[in-house]
Amino acid sequence: MEKVMAYLNYGRWIVDCPKHGKNGALEVTRETTEYIAPCCYPGSIATFTGVIKGILRNVPDVSARATARNLAVQNNEIFEVVFPEDVEAVLSAVSIRMIQNQNWTADETVEFLHSENVEFLQVDNAEPLPAENAEQEVT
Ligand SMILES: [Zn+2]
Repeated sequence: MEKVMAYLNYGRWIVDCPKHGKNGALEVTRETTEYIAPCCYPGSIATFTGVIKGILRNVPDVSARATARNLAVQNNEIFEVVFPEDVEAVLSAVSIRMIQNQNWTADETVEFLHSENVEFLQVDNAEPLPAENAEQEVT
């Protein structure tokens, strides 16, 4: 099984399609083990609208998803989702950032993330961020 690397975008883990890039971007969790590109296999994310206990809900279309998965298996296009080895260190490094800046790609080291924190947040990563709206000292 070929592998695809997850990356962090706005604090979300995302996988792109190896063929079509962000056209196949799909949010995954750290428990996600396999990726089927929705751009190549739209049925892999198929839902239908059903009424459950009187409420309209999107329900996974299990039949369409199974068909799409079988086709992906035949084409050897189910990918193993890979997270960085130092995933906890990556998450820790970006945790002090605003959500829109919680980004990481495979070409970035944890040390680089820390250097960005120092450069853009003016923080020493050993120090916690000062509380927002902290009372200003009156002199
Ligand atoms: Zn694709």
